[in-house]
Amino acid sequence: MLIELSGVCKDYIAGTIPVPALKDVCLRVEEGEYLAIMGPSGSGKSTLMNILGCLDSPSAGTYSLDGRDVGRLDDNALAALRNEKLGFIFQSFNLLSEYDALDNVALPLLFAGVRREKRRARAREALTRMGMEDRIHFRPGQLSGGQQQRVAVARAIIHRPRLLLADEPTGALDTASGDQLMEIFDELHADGVTIIMITHELAVARRASRILHILDGRLTEPAAGAWEPAGRGVPDAPPRDTVGGDAHIAPQYDPAPQYGGAPQGEEVWYED
Ligand code: ADP
Ligand code: MG
Repeated sequence: MLIELSGVCKDYIAGTIPVPALKDVCLRVEEGEYLAIMGPSGSGKSTLMNILGCLDSPSAGTYSLDGRDVGRLDDNALAALRNEKLGFIFQSFNLLSEYDALDNVALPLLFAGVRREKRRARAREALTRMGMEDRIHFRPGQLSGGQQQRVAVARAIIHRPRLLLADEPTGALDTASGDQLMEIFDELHADGVTIIMITHELAVARRASRILHILDGRLTEPAAGAWEPAGRGVPDAPPRDTVGGDAHIAPQYDPAPQYGGAPQGEEVWYED
């Protein structure tokens, strides 16, 4: 089992009021799975991604990644774990505008202590794999959205992560670039990379082998009978939404601008 979340809760404190963003989330993901998570704005998607990506820790419950209890690791160990096992892709690409594609892609290897020539050779290789070999010295501003996202994918996979976390990866792309990106995801999945992707688009979610929904901080698997709570052995927590209540939560609030919150208008999928 690559990922095991058990009874995970996350409460933010807004002023003095606790805001329950995740409520008793249980999730098991096998190595090599391709998972899509759908949910409306404010439902807890970015909070869940931050926890899965070891960027934030749960208020309660446990997270085990590749057999290691993430809650017991200190900041250095967490950073090492992120550098070694995780790749991130964001809606807004998050490339450094003053660097060219090659240097953007090579960056994670700098943190991994790889020498300059080797970094550049591997970055070139990753960009070639993304069909970007003729754009390696272009800066983000000189590339289309689709091309920027392919640079971002090259950066995310340069250190061969086991787990790829993508928050609305097609959100800023036109349909053709989005399709191209989904083909790249299919290839990575076929190579054995585990993928967890947040999306508002049902057509995109359907590329995954499993779709989960999140609503009001609760994660559910829609297929009848398919959902087996992973938190067996975890004592039942009191229903959290009776403790705080969500009425005070502004649904548009996006705490992680680096993830580029999706505009409300894109959320039509949830109506069908
Ligand atoms: P999504 O990504 O699905 O839009 P988020 O995970 O960003 O949702 O937020 C889930 C809930 O937690 C929202 O109600 C949001 O207002 C609240 N929230 C997120 N981050 C913070 C924070 N730093 N402080 C207070 N409330 C927060
Ligand atoms: Mg979000």
